Amino acid sequence: MSIRIGSRRALPACLAVAVVGGAVAVGLPMPAQAGGNGHGHARNVIFVNGDGMAAAHREAARLALAGYDGDLAMDSLPVTGLETTDPRDPEATITDSAAAATAWATGQKTYNGAISVDVDENPLLTLGQEAEEAGKATGIVTTAQVTDASPAAFFSTTPDRGLQDQIAKQYLEVTKPEVILGGGEDWWLPAGDEGAFAPRTAAEQGSETDPEVSRSTQGDLVAEARGLGYEYVTDAAALEAADGDQLLGLFSNEEMFQQRPEGEGDEYDPVVPLADMTSKALETLSADRDGFFLLVEEEAVDEMSHANNATQMLTAMAALDEAVQVARDYVAEHPDTLLVVTGDHECGGLTVEDVDADDESGPGGTLDGTPAVEEQISGEDGPFAVAGSDKQFVLDWTTSGHTGVPTVVTAEGVGSDQLVGYYPNTHLHEVMHQVLFGR
Ligand SMILES: [Zn+2]
Repeated sequence: MSIRIGSRRALPACLAVAVVGGAVAVGLPMPAQAGGNGHGHARNVIFVNGDGMAAAHREAARLALAGYDGDLAMDSLPVTGLETTDPRDPEATITDSAAAATAWATGQKTYNGAISVDVDENPLLTLGQEAEEAGKATGIVTTAQVTDASPAAFFSTTPDRGLQDQIAKQYLEVTKPEVILGGGEDWWLPAGDEGAFAPRTAAEQGSETDPEVSRSTQGDLVAEARGLGYEYVTDAAALEAADGDQLLGLFSNEEMFQQRPEGEGDEYDPVVPLADMTSKALETLSADRDGFFLLVEEEAVDEMSHANNATQMLTAMAALDEAVQVARDYVAEHPDTLLVVTGDHECGGLTVEDVDADDESGPGGTLDGTPAVEEQISGEDGPFAVAGSDKQFVLDWTTSGHTGVPTVVTAEGVGSDQLVGYYPNTHLHEVMHQVLFGR
């Protein structure tokens, strides 16, 4: 059931609002002391990252999926803010996913590529580790490699985001999240051990990309996980049947989709939909009476934006919104939960425009009419239909990289009132910390 709150603007910013059984409950201010919330219930955080997602991605998805009078689930959350994403990098002004996730996970700005280490490469305390130390359950759900930068920053520390097998080993031996669901089998198995997903050569991947082949330098980490009590699954049926309190699900060699320009082998058809992984994670983590922290990530919003592939970006947005609805349904029944939906940075320099043959050049062109160097770069995609209307729009990319445009934050549940406003990404850490640990 989808529950809508009548008017977002009418809600006072100082109140956290949760909907329980059709009635609106107004949350109390959070207590200063650690622990419970005054009702004896442990608090949970569900943090949803649409990687690369900013306002234009959300608006394009709203128009395409819900139409003029509609809302995405992620747009229906009662609290809205904007976050700035700049890193502290010696060379770059614009963040990558590693520095942005480090800000969320530790409250500190750092350099691009850093996984929860500071600018001098000193390891920082992560939200995932703190949650485990507080006795809470934790989990990762992503369509990227489970060891990719965003989840990695919440559950590991390393000066280099590329060390994904070492990140996996830290999951098992240091932070121990109870639920790990996503892609990236190649980083858990040594060379020569194919695992559940056959290798793909560089040629099969497109000539400029790396092969997808097992490459763990840390031994057989799947075997190690099993030895530590994880139930290991590699397909949807096994995930559905799983009933352990520790779950490791690896559903692809690398990302759970293929990042390409349109018609060049692009694919978004995950072995397990993001919403189903989210649902299973919530079912598993909520068994812990001390509460939980869950990271949910849709990586294809970012990667399809890098490829300037608006069609698949919109497909990924739809998948993300279904996962957000799963989270909303959970929060409706468990109001001691904070749900946050945001993006780590903008990707693609995207904007939403009318269909206009005289504006720039359409796909592949340039302002003076000469062909673009790369056909997909700085072009327009579309037209796309506005759902439920006879109108159309096009999506215009200005880069194949990230930009510094602030990202939208929407939220509901306990503590969400603190996410109104315009603030640095580190503020999200402060709010999640307060909700989880009362300080
Ligand atoms: Zn990116």
